Amino acid sequence: MAFVVVGGSLAGVNAAIALREQGYPGELIVIGQEQEPPYERPPLSKGYLLGDAERSSVFVQTSSWYQENAVDLRLGQEAVAVDAAAHTVTLASGEQIGYAKLLLATGSEPRRLPVPGADQPHVRYLRSLADSEALREQLRMGAHVAVIGAGWIGLEVAAAARHHGANVSIVETDALPLRRVLGDEVAGVFRDLHQAHDVTFHFGRSVQSIGADAVILDDGTSVPADVVVVGIGVAPRTALASAAGLAVDNGVLVSSSLRTSDPDIYACGDIASWEHPLIGQRIRVEHWENARQSGQFAARAMLGEAGVYDWLPYFFSDQYDLGMEYSGYAGPGEADRVVFRGDAAAREFIAFWLKENRVLAGMNVNVWDVHDDIRALATAGHSGRSVDPGKLADAQVPLGELLAS
Ligand code: NAP
Repeated sequence: MAFVVVGGSLAGVNAAIALREQGYPGELIVIGQEQEPPYERPPLSKGYLLGDAERSSVFVQTSSWYQENAVDLRLGQEAVAVDAAAHTVTLASGEQIGYAKLLLATGSEPRRLPVPGADQPHVRYLRSLADSEALREQLRMGAHVAVIGAGWIGLEVAAAARHHGANVSIVETDALPLRRVLGDEVAGVFRDLHQAHDVTFHFGRSVQSIGADAVILDDGTSVPADVVVVGIGVAPRTALASAAGLAVDNGVLVSSSLRTSDPDIYACGDIASWEHPLIGQRIRVEHWENARQSGQFAARAMLGEAGVYDWLPYFFSDQYDLGMEYSGYAGPGEADRVVFRGDAAAREFIAFWLKENRVLAGMNVNVWDVHDDIRALATAGHSGRSVDPGKLADAQVPLGELLAS
């Protein structure tokens, strides 16, 4: 019987690629709801939205790759049920597919803004390739763009909109952008960056309603808007797993080898809430690199390889002339101190999140070739090793030397 992957996005296709690379010879079926072959999402809010990247560059593989590698890619098909006892997946068409091992990689869907007027066509979300293409058409010189949510989508869209000459306002319920992830000190860098590019923030405000050409806030402020982009987070698509009787709680609960509560069903990507062996708690990661890494790990686990998924989270962003990478994991409020190395005001620095002098995570901003060192520091930190914060802040001390003694 076949190995079946439900989810034709990055996590699912990386699993399929890894299965073939690892020599899995059997039938391999990937079921994808969208009509497009699997594609990368980072360009949708960065290069492709800016107009810098070709459409063909977003696809993970050429269309011939699937045929050449005997991957049965079923596009435009929705899996509507999994019968774990019978080892079958049922498609919306009524077709039933038997599986020996099943991988759920169903991803996330954008949270909807529940306010009057949010169902109008100029209110947009950014998740799919089609969303990115439709939005790019509207990011024009002089257009008024209202972004709801100062998270990763909101900030990257704001940068792309300014690139195209649009006027941008951002509405955020919190007092700073990205505060839950980065904390006050580093979040301020992103506020300053966007303000320096003439973006208007409305912090501490929520949307009351959306009209034809304006967003009305809870204090009555009217924010001009020819287009509204909502980026208020995503929710893991776990309905299939729940209905199949798998353990679900803010994601599909999987072991450190990405196995669900059913021994023949695995989960990866955005939906997988896994016991991280190094971090010591369950985490769920919605970023691109986790889709790649966890898809590849799940493939090896499905083939019976022993091991634990101990990959430390990594993500990156590009906004205007700021490029950054983040490695490690510091949950909200977990760090007791942030140490800067470099010049935060000039937006050329590394920030480290520490707890009891252990590095939990680090972010390099416009500083390059330090990712491996930051990862090593965060790995050591999560393993209980502390560092000297003074040396961490001192750019004269090579990062590689901090773990030397
Ligand atoms: P996100 O990064 O979770 O940010 C959502 C933001 O919206 C948060 O700042 C949140 O504030 C705010 N918010 C929530 N409800 C709101 C409301 N009703 N009105 C105004 N603001 C509200 O989610 P996202 O930007 O939508 O991105 C979706 C997913 O894609 C995320 O998992 C993200 O990590 C991922 N993504 C990653 C990248 C990257 O790695 N470069 C790029 C794009 C997208 P609170 O935090 O206070 O709730």
